[in-house]
Amino acid sequence: MADTRHRTEREFVDNGHDVFWALSEEHRQWQKVLQAFCADAVAPGAAERSIAGRFDADLVTAVGQLGAFGLLVGEEYGGGGGDLRMACLAAEELATVDSSLAVTVHVQAISVALLAHLAADRPDLLREVLPSACTGATFISFGLTEPTGGSDAGRIGTSARRDGSDWVISGAKQFITNSGTPFSRYVILFAATGESVDGKAPVSAFLVPLDAPGVEVGGAYPKLGWRSSDTHPLFLDQVRVPADALLGVEGRGYREALRFLTWARLPIAAMSTGLARGCLSDTLRFVKDRESFGKPLGSHQGVAFQVADIAALASTARVMTYDGALKYDSGMPIEREAAIAKLVASEAANKAAYLATQLQGGYGFVQETASTRHYQDARILTIGEGTSEVQRMLVARGLGLPV
Ligand SMILES: Cc1cc2nc3c(=O)[nH]c(=O)nc-3n(C[C@H](O)[C@H](O)[C@H](O)COP(=O)(O)OP(=O)(O)OC[C@H]3O[C@@H](n4cnc5c(N)ncnc54)[C@H](O)[C@@H]3O)c2cc1C
Repeated sequence: MADTRHRTEREFVDNGHDVFWALSEEHRQWQKVLQAFCADAVAPGAAERSIAGRFDADLVTAVGQLGAFGLLVGEEYGGGGGDLRMACLAAEELATVDSSLAVTVHVQAISVALLAHLAADRPDLLREVLPSACTGATFISFGLTEPTGGSDAGRIGTSARRDGSDWVISGAKQFITNSGTPFSRYVILFAATGESVDGKAPVSAFLVPLDAPGVEVGGAYPKLGWRSSDTHPLFLDQVRVPADALLGVEGRGYREALRFLTWARLPIAAMSTGLARGCLSDTLRFVKDRESFGKPLGSHQGVAFQVADIAALASTARVMTYDGALKYDSGMPIEREAAIAKLVASEAANKAAYLATQLQGGYGFVQETASTRHYQDARILTIGEGTSEVQRMLVARGLGLPV
């Protein structure tokens, strides 16, 4: 076994020594595949795609061929039968260079896994939809957030009412990732299916085709970050779907989705880790090359200490992420771990991105540099998939505080 006591910075940054206890040889092989893909196919065009806000369908097809979309579903449906650590590795490695691609993969991977879970008793539906969803030829988006608010996500205004054996759905969804790409075919949509008590009604999940009459995919949002990912509002006006569009048990789809998707915060923590690592590699390169006051920037202690802080932030985020993912893969409950990892890692990514841009001076502010992109992409990490405040709420509730 190699002597890991004296590591080069490349080993430190790239090879996951800080989470050696969580990764098997199979995980490391997958990580190497992802790293080669990122270097060859993702990094070269990342700046151009982000500046242009361009969703790259060919790149998405290529990442689909790696098997990243179907990692979490079984081989019988075209998936990879992988585990959560594999999904986290995909999110982490892609986010070292392109967070937009990382979130595109993440949303498809969670939607594919959620469909497989909610329709586990419907193999015909799964055989029809999942194989092409696992390659990325069919995108399934996740439609929960509404214009009136995402943190209190159970308070749903979109409604579905029975009409004969059909359901008729009306309402609006906001900020829905992957809903307007050339591959977008379905949305797993959450709608109230009963009387509301104190503003909250039973909420069911539906698989709605995006080309159903009455569905309108609104214009793409111009965004600060995740600029080459695809995000649109959805409007539903009397959308008629058959009875079997309902996924799972009527009135329980939302609760079941939340219960199942506790783990989905960990790939966001992994993206945060990847982004912090990206900040570290860029900044290291920069402070070694650039000189000020007659010596390399990194020879000034004040600069070196800040680079060390970025390294500490990346490592902390990574340890929290894989602690949660390993526990999940081992069958342990992870409510608290997932919330803390998401909170700590996303806040760490923001601090790392701030330091990276500061240490790169004017270069950290011009759009061609990776640090500028990381700075833009970091901002959503404390907001999407539950804000930092929501994560604190979950942790506090777990401690018995009635917030
Ligand atoms: C680029 C992008 C992609 C997204 N993709 C998807 C997607 O694919 N599917 C989907 O369903 N959603 C998606 N979202 C929505 C995202 O999950 C929500 O934006 C997020 O959950 C926050 O909801 P909100 O924007 O409505 O903010 P709000 O819920 O209105 O919150 C506003 C602020 O108030 C704070 N706050 C709210 N309540 C409390 C409280 N009780 N105590 C303290 N603070 C509080 C929040 O933390 C936040 O800081 C996406 C969003 C973006 C920007």
